Amino acid sequence: MVGRLNNKVFIVTGGTKGIGFSTAEMFLKEGASGIITGRGIEAGQSAVAQLAKVAGEEHIKFIQHDSSNEEGWISLFKKANEIFGQVSILVNNAGIAARGDIESTTLEEWRKIQSVNLDGVFLGTHYGVINMKGQKDASIINMSSIEGLVGEPQLLAYNASKGGVRLMTKSAALHCALNDLNVRINTVHPGYITTPMVENSPGLAEYQSSRTQTPMGHLGEPEDIANMCVFLGSEESKFATGAEFIVDGGYTAK
Ligand code: NAP
Repeated sequence: MVGRLNNKVFIVTGGTKGIGFSTAEMFLKEGASGIITGRGIEAGQSAVAQLAKVAGEEHIKFIQHDSSNEEGWISLFKKANEIFGQVSILVNNAGIAARGDIESTTLEEWRKIQSVNLDGVFLGTHYGVINMKGQKDASIINMSSIEGLVGEPQLLAYNASKGGVRLMTKSAALHCALNDLNVRINTVHPGYITTPMVENSPGLAEYQSSRTQTPMGHLGEPEDIANMCVFLGSEESKFATGAEFIVDGGYTAK
């Protein structure tokens, strides 16, 4: 069977749950092989066992890595190269959320969010471009959010991190395009999606399902975002770079 990502090699950070897991699953179904990362070893082993049923254990590996750790990025690309060959799709998906407004947010809370959501995506994009350039087509997909497009008073630090991902991506994409590096870099902006991040926050899914919040009247599924990542990872999107791909049930159309 010819998949849309046949023979491509991927890394999905935070691939043990939610959007990252679903994206890795769909990449495997489309013929790619690769690595998922996360901090928790048990979650990683359980995820990789499930994913191995989709495509065989030779096509998927888990590597424990905190995306804010720079040394870990160097060894992650080295291992990916040794196991599967040159990486052609990187999804900088790992992210955390915390509530807090401009008055209540402490510097410590602010820095914790930026270290994963912004430093982690910067490091991934930096080492991604260095390791992925020079192929026919490589794609880096940075997971932003609707919260990288519009403000929410209780998500101050998260807003800042996701907005930062959006513009950092455009700068990096321009560098790659102008220098013929053949690495495309885009952002994906999910609305509210049924993942542990949302489901573990009491009342959030119900509230965000209302039509005043999400005009379609329901949350999205992880597959809705994974499908966008398949498009951006494949050569179907070969003319798209530095762009924003919103999948939000109409949330930001209001
Ligand atoms: P999730 O259900 O909480 O899953 C997050 C994944 O990231 C887990 O595998 C987690 O594993 C991993 N992770 C967290 N911190 C990490 C770190 N420092 N290094 C490596 N891995 C880390 O989250 P999700 O809802 O799928 O969200 C995925 C991405 O989409 C995030 O960037 C999020 O901000 C964004 N997003 C989500 C929504 C939504 O409604 N769900 C909407 C917009 C944007 P460990 O904890 O074991 O490390």
